Formats: sequence, C-alpha cells, structure tokens
Amino acid sequence: MSGVRARFAPSPTGELHIGGARTALFNYLYVHNAGGKLILRIDDTDLERSRSDYIDKLIASMQWLGLKWDEGPYYQSQRLDQYTREAERLISENKAYRCYCSTEMLADGRSEAKKESKAYLYPGSCRNLSEGQEEEFRNEGRTPVVRLLTPEQDVTVVRDQIRGEVSFENASIDDFIIIKSNGLPTYNFASIVDDLQMEITHVIRAEEHLSNTPRQQLCVNALGYELPYFAHVPMILAPDRSKLSKRHGATSVEEFYSEGYLPEALINYMALLGWSPGAGGEEEIFSLAEMVNRFDLNKVTKTAAVYDVTKLSWMNSHYIREYDLDKLTGAAIPFFEQQGLIESPLNNNDYEYLKQVIATVRERAKTLVEMAEISSYFYRDQFDYEQKGVNKHFAKENAAEHVRRAAEELEKLEPYDKESIEALYRSLSEDLGISTGRLIHPTRLSITGRTAGPGLFDIMALLGRKRTVERLKKAAAFIEGGLTEQ
Ligand code: GLU
Repeated sequence: MSGVRARFAPSPTGELHIGGARTALFNYLYVHNAGGKLILRIDDTDLERSRSDYIDKLIASMQWLGLKWDEGPYYQSQRLDQYTREAERLISENKAYRCYCSTEMLADGRSEAKKESKAYLYPGSCRNLSEGQEEEFRNEGRTPVVRLLTPEQDVTVVRDQIRGEVSFENASIDDFIIIKSNGLPTYNFASIVDDLQMEITHVIRAEEHLSNTPRQQLCVNALGYELPYFAHVPMILAPDRSKLSKRHGATSVEEFYSEGYLPEALINYMALLGWSPGAGGEEEIFSLAEMVNRFDLNKVTKTAAVYDVTKLSWMNSHYIREYDLDKLTGAAIPFFEQQGLIESPLNNNDYEYLKQVIATVRERAKTLVEMAEISSYFYRDQFDYEQKGVNKHFAKENAAEHVRRAAEELEKLEPYDKESIEALYRSLSEDLGISTGRLIHPTRLSITGRTAGPGLFDIMALLGRKRTVERLKKAAAFIEGGLTEQ
C-alpha cells in the first residue's frame, strides 16, 4: 500500500452528474493505479441546499458504478468543530482575524468595483482591530466573520498535475472569509482543512475549482502543512460546446441507469472523457482493471471533453452483447417489469424464458429500455402489424394462403425446434414455388408485428408451437379480412 490518498468530495445538492461521476472515476483510477486509498467525503456545509436523499442517491450511484471507496463517507456537517478550532488557531497566530464589517458597510466598495468592472476585494478594514474595538463591535450586536490574512505581493503558484504551473497574483486575492457569520466554514476553508486532516496527498477535482486553489494553498501555508498535489480535470461540454445540461438528455448517473445503460459502459465511456490511454489510440473498450493499470494523470487532457451520446450508446450495445447472460438478465428485469412484460420475482421457468428472450434480442438493443421494447411480442399476443410491412408483405399475392399453410405444417412438425422449422420453411417454399423470403417476411410480421428483428427461426422456436401457430392463423384471417382491421 502506497501513501497515496485521494478523495471524492461531492456536495449533496443534486443528483450525481456525469461530471462528478467522472471526477470520482479519475480519483478511483488514480488511487488504484498507485495502490492508495480513496476517501469519500460529503461536502454538506451548505445546510440549505444539502439534502439527505441526495446523499443516499449519491451513494447508490457510486455503488451502482462499482466505484468503491476505502474510507468514509465523512460528513463535513459533523466536523464543524474542526473548522472552528483551526480558524481560532489561525486567529491566535495572527494569520486570520475577525471582521465585523456588515454587508451594508461593504456595499459602497462593491458597487464601486462593479462600476469599474473589477472584482471586488475586501479592503482589510478589520485587519488591525484592538481588543477594545472588537469588544465594542460585539456589544453593538455585530457577529463577525473570520478572514484569512493574505499576502499583498508576489504570486501563488499552483503546480497542477495536468495543467502545469498556473500563477495567481496575490494582489488579486483579498482577505477572504474562512468562517461565515453563522459560524459555518466557507467551501475553501472546510475543503482544505479536511484535505489536510485527512492526509489527502492528491486533490483531483473539476477544473472549475482551479481558481479556488490559490486560496486553499494560502490556507495550507497559514495552517502550516505541506501542500497536497492538485490536478484539475477538464470540463465536459455538450456536443455544441455549450454547458452540458438537461436539454442534452440524460446527465445524471441515475438518469443513465433509468435509460438502461450498464455501469461498465458508462464507466468506460466516462474514462475516455478527457483521458486518452495513449499508444494505439484506437482502443476504446476497457475493463475497469485495464483502466486502472493504464491510468496516468499525464494523459489527461487540458482541453474540455465533448459529450457524445452516440458513442455512449455504441459502448452500451457492446457491453450488452458481451455481458454474462445471467448478469444481463438480472440487470434487465426491472426494465421488463416497468414495461409490464413480467412480474418479479420470476419462477425458474419464467426466468429461463426471459434469459432466452434476452439471448435472442441482445444484439439489437442499445439500452435495456430498448431491449424490453423490442421483446414485447415474446410476452404479448396483442399487437399491431407495422403498416409498411402490411403494405409490402401481407398485400402480396396469396399471402394469406402461404401463412395459413405454414401454420398447418407447423402444427404437425416434429420435433418443433429451430432446425426443423428452418428445414420446413425451405421445403414448403419449394412446394409452393415461391422464394423463402415470401414465407419468412409475412411470418415475421404475423408473429412479431414487425418487419425486422432477430433470427426468425429463433423467435418461432422460443415462442413455441402454440403461440406461433395461433398468431399465423390470426394473421391469415386478418389478410383475408381485407387488411383493414388490426
Ligand atoms: N464539494 C465540491 C464540489 O462538489 C468539491 C470540490 C473539491 O473537490 O474540492 O464541487
């Protein structure tokens, strides 16, 4: 075990978004590659926006993705005394101070800065208050914030593992608040205090936090610790390079689950959002173990990654094809249930039947939702015939007779299995003096209602003699009835 410790620190203010999940994944890959530990920390100091159901969902999403953590979850809301204690220590060491300026008192400065289109910087009015002045302010009923005393000169350099050195002018960083007037820590302070106390060696997080890092580094210096390594992973943009949002379809892990994506596909897809494993370049399918082996922060790009649902669904169909059949069946059950095709728990026969249905259709499904949709005729006897199929196949000369003949022959067929059905269709079409297609196409439409699908003889075998024959006879009657009623 190496000393590497990284953390994933989501705020439970919403569902786990693809960006957050990708950050969790990169942390996971890094830690496992380095033989270190992953810590899960819940950044829930925003008491108004944090919700416990989001915490549950977050944890469920991590578990579904297979991203196991080694320690935690730790909750910032349970560590408030730590932040206060560290802030008090900084005050006693003259590295931070209490500031009694109210929002109203700072308003003029703010509007001045706004007029000049500059970022507002707190002028440091409370830097050198005497004990007496502080007491006076307290007696007036003012509740202070705590601000970090920051240097006015020089630069703070972030040595980012992905972006290289990024310098920030200290003059552009004011004495920022570390403890708010309600006693709660600000994100920057709580985050870095935890990182230090939890002995985090690598802070791997979203690019949007790069601008927070110099402030956090200043806190590290003041608190007297060593800097962890920082790595800021690139953003994920929508295909039109705008911010990825709801209007681009599923964006949270939960939504991907409900749309029928497999966790391995989502993991594989997310890994390549900003990471290119190098050498070869063409490879795209990786197991989690392979990704762990090859993961390297040096190969994470600086530029934003672009989300591409076509590629994700291509990957999903790959995993649907390759998955262990029992595992796939287990994953598919809720989706078949949702569409009213089955009711769980399934007895052995129903489970075996479902498994065969899935084995038959899996090649053609991009998601588990789609898989259940294209399997409906295995469960439902009532369905409409696709109109274009009706026009094309049922309207052919003698179609009803062909379908009826097939039904009659199938009734007598022994054994009723895929090979014999196939042999029957060949000999019957010869007897009738037509191509096998003239039998196959109307048969497919009769027993599935559709013009395309998996191997017809597989479907017929799986549906069984009784249902196949009934559906063929029903279709023959429909054709004879003038192709109108469905
Ligand atoms: N709670 C922060 C977020 O969800 C985490 C930032 C960090 O990793 O430091 O954005």
